[in-house]
Amino acid sequence: MNRITIALSKGRIFDETMPLLAAAGIVPSEDPQSSRRLIIPTNRDEVRIVIVRATDAPTYVQYGAADLGVAGKDVLLEHGSEGLYQPIDLRIAQCRMMVAVPAGFDYLNVVRQGARLKVATKYVNIAREHFANKGVHVDLIKLYGSMELAPLVGLADAIVDLVSTGSTLKANNLVACEQIMDISARLIVNQAALKLKRESLMPILDAIAGVVEQ
Ligand code: AMP
Repeated sequence: MNRITIALSKGRIFDETMPLLAAAGIVPSEDPQSSRRLIIPTNRDEVRIVIVRATDAPTYVQYGAADLGVAGKDVLLEHGSEGLYQPIDLRIAQCRMMVAVPAGFDYLNVVRQGARLKVATKYVNIAREHFANKGVHVDLIKLYGSMELAPLVGLADAIVDLVSTGSTLKANNLVACEQIMDISARLIVNQAALKLKRESLMPILDAIAGVVEQ
């Protein structure tokens, strides 16, 4: 029997992946929210879950330290997805990648005038491509979190960030002014593992595909 390792990040991705794994007969023996263990056994002896940072999931799967994982489209586009097979859009952790500005900032007019925009974001690659495609001149400022603060203290004119309910923008008097793309989490699979452990992996992939709403 092949050993199967699944890389998941804590929080929304872990919680929303659980019902999908349950459909494949995989149930973790502990909740990572209440445990500090980074390797979590499951009800199946040969299957384990490793708890990683969301941005690290593709790396673990690329190098084969995990056979399967779940990663947001934002993470895959921003950090690369080389060597990864992405068979299923899991339709979980859904949100939108948006441009947002302070309420009252006339984004469309500024863009129309060809002015240079200062944009703060964690997603510099996605933002660079978006503004380049639109022919908008931007200076990108890389941040690692709390992007919403940047326009409020004069660090940037606009931000590029994930928006789910919109309440974080609203609480900081920002408004979304342009959608870049829809985001959801994808199943990622190590390509070599898919060949070498096909008999063990395919039933898991098929069970997950069976319960994902298409
Ligand atoms: P909300 O207030 O519901 O619009 O959520 C916005 C905040 O949650 C922002 O700080 C986002 O970076 C973060 N966020 C929203 N959706 C996701 C997601 N699917 N994955 C990671 N972060 C998210």
